[in-house]
Amino acid sequence: MKTIYNIAIDGPAGAGKSTIAREVARRLRFVYVDTGAMYRAIALYFSRKGMDLGDEKEISREVSRVEVSLAYDNGIQQVLLNGENVSSLIRTPQVGAAASVTSAYPAVREKLTQLQKELAKRENIIMDGRDIGTCVLPHADLKVYLTASAEVRAKRRYEELQEKGETADLASIEEEIKERDYRDMHREISPLTKAEDAVLVDTSSMTIEEVVECLMTLAEERGIRV
Ligand code: C5P
Repeated sequence: MKTIYNIAIDGPAGAGKSTIAREVARRLRFVYVDTGAMYRAIALYFSRKGMDLGDEKEISREVSRVEVSLAYDNGIQQVLLNGENVSSLIRTPQVGAAASVTSAYPAVREKLTQLQKELAKRENIIMDGRDIGTCVLPHADLKVYLTASAEVRAKRRYEELQEKGETADLASIEEEIKERDYRDMHREISPLTKAEDAVLVDTSSMTIEEVVECLMTLAEERGIRV
């Protein structure tokens, strides 16, 4: 019998990957790995140092000095940057945009994909990102490409921010999402794309519960159970 299962979830910014993956992980008792948090943490490091994010050479040289690791606190992923827990500092649009720039560099990707592959060998995991099905876990037991229209994704982000009491502008969120999609889909290395064998799930008119149920069914169909 197979002992370790891997589920890969990819898709553009704001498609609901983390919300869905977290809940599926809880139901299956799998570990949830949010790879975007790793790219955000490493981007935070470069930004804090005041580095020119467009300078690939400098950034690539600096990569060996950065240690990104994950820890779990009551099942919730924490991301550590050279030992410092930066989980609460990486969720800003600025860090997201910086991550989307520096994640295009091969040196950055090599470092983080290595770590992600190692994590997936050890336990049952559900991992989300942009290149999980295509690059990090090409042999995943289930691959899902989660998407929604840019308009719907922007609206979800907007409502999320409003709930937190933060001021937000819907039009600029949609603009930022489109820019990030473009960068992520057009970079040379590991661009965001649906793996051939991934199941496409368009969540534009689905509730969270419907998407979770859909993934649970797909997992069951593939014999993924604890
Ligand atoms: O998913 P999240 O919005 O946190 O990701 C931030 C950025 O990190 C993405 O826009 C993308 O550029 C990058 N990323 C990536 N590969 C992954 C996960 C995230 O390139 N597997």
